[in-house]
Amino acid sequence: MTISLEVFRNEALAFFEANCERRVEEAAFVWGRGADSVAMFEEMSKEAEAAMVASAKRWRSTMFDAGFGWITGPTEYGGRGLSSEYQRAFGETATDFRIPNESPFTIGLGMVAPTILAHGIDEVRDAYLTALWRGDIVGCQLFSEPVAGSDLAGIQTKAERDGDEWVINGQKVWTSGAQYSDIGEIITRTSLDKPKHKGMTMFLIDMHAPGVEIRPLRQMTGGASFNEVFLTDVRVHDSHRLGGVDEGWGVALTTLMNERMAIGAGGGGSASGNRGVERILQMAQHFDVHADPVVRQKIANYYVHSRAAALTNLRAVSKIKAGQTPGPELSIAKLAGTNNMLRLGQLVSDVLGPRLVANTGEWGTFSWSEMITGTPGARVAGGTDEVMRNILGERVLGLPKDPSHQK
Ligand SMILES: Cc1cc2nc3c(=O)[nH]c(=O)nc-3n(C[C@H](O)[C@H](O)[C@H](O)COP(=O)(O)OP(=O)(O)OC[C@H]3O[C@@H](n4cnc5c(N)ncnc54)[C@H](O)[C@@H]3O)c2cc1C
Repeated sequence: MTISLEVFRNEALAFFEANCERRVEEAAFVWGRGADSVAMFEEMSKEAEAAMVASAKRWRSTMFDAGFGWITGPTEYGGRGLSSEYQRAFGETATDFRIPNESPFTIGLGMVAPTILAHGIDEVRDAYLTALWRGDIVGCQLFSEPVAGSDLAGIQTKAERDGDEWVINGQKVWTSGAQYSDIGEIITRTSLDKPKHKGMTMFLIDMHAPGVEIRPLRQMTGGASFNEVFLTDVRVHDSHRLGGVDEGWGVALTTLMNERMAIGAGGGGSASGNRGVERILQMAQHFDVHADPVVRQKIANYYVHSRAAALTNLRAVSKIKAGQTPGPELSIAKLAGTNNMLRLGQLVSDVLGPRLVANTGEWGTFSWSEMITGTPGARVAGGTDEVMRNILGERVLGLPKDPSHQK
């Protein structure tokens, strides 16, 4: 029997009241007060990261055990089997409470779990879906390689069959969260004599298996949120194959469509939050450039573009909520979001000048360097700006196909 939306909302409210603190009305932003971080990526010490992952896992299991961990999921895996309307009601109720950071699960739940559900055999679904959604394990995405990113079909990591098992050798790169992941969705080359899109196979590997070596990559923001992953004779049972042999490209498309939804739905670059327009206005006043017509024009330009991007984003999100698959809106939202980051970076550089590059300890100045050095990563992750433009050129404007995809 389906629970009514009203009863569900009351249940959700009771759950949050029992498990979280209510959000107090956030005080208006005042220049010089509170934390001045505007970082794009979370840069944490090992200890802080371990504590954050442990807290995220505790929160996931609390939600799951109370029946809110996978609201739209199938009941045989611990889901509630309810529609996305219920998921939305839960999300709306959550906005009044302080919720622990759930970022370690973004890839595992946003991309790996939907792929397991669509392409895994029963044994694999049973083994991993509940564990992922309950937060007992974390998943990562092992797609990119040193010579294959936008052109994913160029991957070279090989999987060779050995009886009931496969043996994987190669290297992946930019693997977000590999350092705390338990399983990885890996795309491999299984046939060399077929066209490149037709010779790949997807597997689920144990990130703690012998032969998996994870090395952190330090990025220019100072942190190390991604890794290189080296695979030497890593053995995986055939049951852990996702989809058919040499049919990994179709499986990858399931993951990538979910990735675009996860990134697109969060993108759009609304001029709010810790990089909001109020902060920029007060910064301009503090440095006495608020009357400068060029600065005023740039602030207005940033605000207008951010609003337009946020509204485009809402179009994509409402399609998802209505159970439809969004098309180019997600590419537009991603591109608009990253263009706004560039606009913001330029504006802040104009206002701060050298304060942006020399850490004098002055509040609200050097901290912006973390946002500006994080922007290139956002422009590349989940499909680069140029790849988004190709998608829009081909699917919206009807331009000829990108030569690299005509083969
Ligand atoms: C923050 C972040 C997190 C990431 N996390 C993961 C992860 O968890 N797992 C994972 O597998 N990967 C991850 N990646 C990797 C990401 O998917 C790749 O970086 C991305 O696909 C681009 O590939 P590349 O770096 O090889 O660049 P390339 O594809 O080599 O691109 C280099 C340049 O050429 C341009 N270019 C390439 N092809 C075309 C074309 N056809 N037309 C026009 N221009 C083109 C690109 O836009 C770019 O400017 C992450 C990357 C970032 C930045």
